[in-house]
Amino acid sequence: MTDTSPTTIPTHDSTKKLQGKVAIITGGASGIGEATAHLFADHGARAVVVADIQDDKGRLVAEAIGANRCSYVHCDVTDENQVQATVDWTVKTYGHLDIMFSNAGIVILDLDFSQFDRLFAINVRGMAACVKHAARAMVEQRVRGSIICTASVVGSRGANRRTDYTMSKHAVVGLVRAASRQLGEHGIRVNSVSPFAVATPLMQEAYRKEGEEIEKFFEALTPLKGIVLRVNHVADAALFLASDESAFVSGHDLVVDGGFVS
Ligand code: NAD
Repeated sequence: MTDTSPTTIPTHDSTKKLQGKVAIITGGASGIGEATAHLFADHGARAVVVADIQDDKGRLVAEAIGANRCSYVHCDVTDENQVQATVDWTVKTYGHLDIMFSNAGIVILDLDFSQFDRLFAINVRGMAACVKHAARAMVEQRVRGSIICTASVVGSRGANRRTDYTMSKHAVVGLVRAASRQLGEHGIRVNSVSPFAVATPLMQEAYRKEGEEIEKFFEALTPLKGIVLRVNHVADAALFLASDESAFVSGHDLVVDGGFVS
């Protein structure tokens, strides 16, 4: 499996970074996942499978991208059987799986224990199920795949509130670190993308309840000025990790935060 061929300088078609690839995106019906589904398709992915629980929105995303390149599958990531079925359906329909973007996640109010287990079931166990079943399919078919999890800037630092969310995203970074070590021998790369706050439905809902205007509130906190973080910036980072441009990058947490964590 080791590539011992003489060093060549590969060239990438920068307009089609995912030519012929097959990808699953969990949480692909909205926000970061939706933007990434469009970007992956624009970059030549042969099939993008949007996996979510919002059926109407998910179908609309698939329709907008086009039935020839995108499918919607109902998949609640808290149910391992549904994750397994989604991976198996993708392999059966498209032949193999190259990319898993495990991105579905939620935010709830701080340490509300009635919601705590649900948050961990989605943000941690759901991510782990996606990594597990994507890896299984890739190993079985000897695909040198790329697995990407959406963590967060609060996966590597503390936060003044949302302790449960912060805990869950630390666990995602731990999952990525462990999985990258264990799957490396199969040629599978595992990385995370960690956005700062983006005004997606998830964040708008969380902050509306607290009466804050999310973009104004967070713009003031990033050292990088003159630009507001948008879903397409996060999708660009996921594309980099999905494509061969990051061929030797594994176990990495790619923050998209305008210097916030530094
Ligand atoms: P979003 O609400 O727009 O999208 C999240 C999607 O996940 C939704 O379509 C939702 O239906 C889906 N989802 C929720 N529970 C699910 C389940 N059990 N099974 C399958 N799908 C489920 O929010 P977003 O901001 O795009 O969030 C995407 C990821 O980005 C999450 O993991 C979130 O924690 C992370 N994140 C977001 C921000 C931000 O500021 N928006 C910052 C850092 C990290």
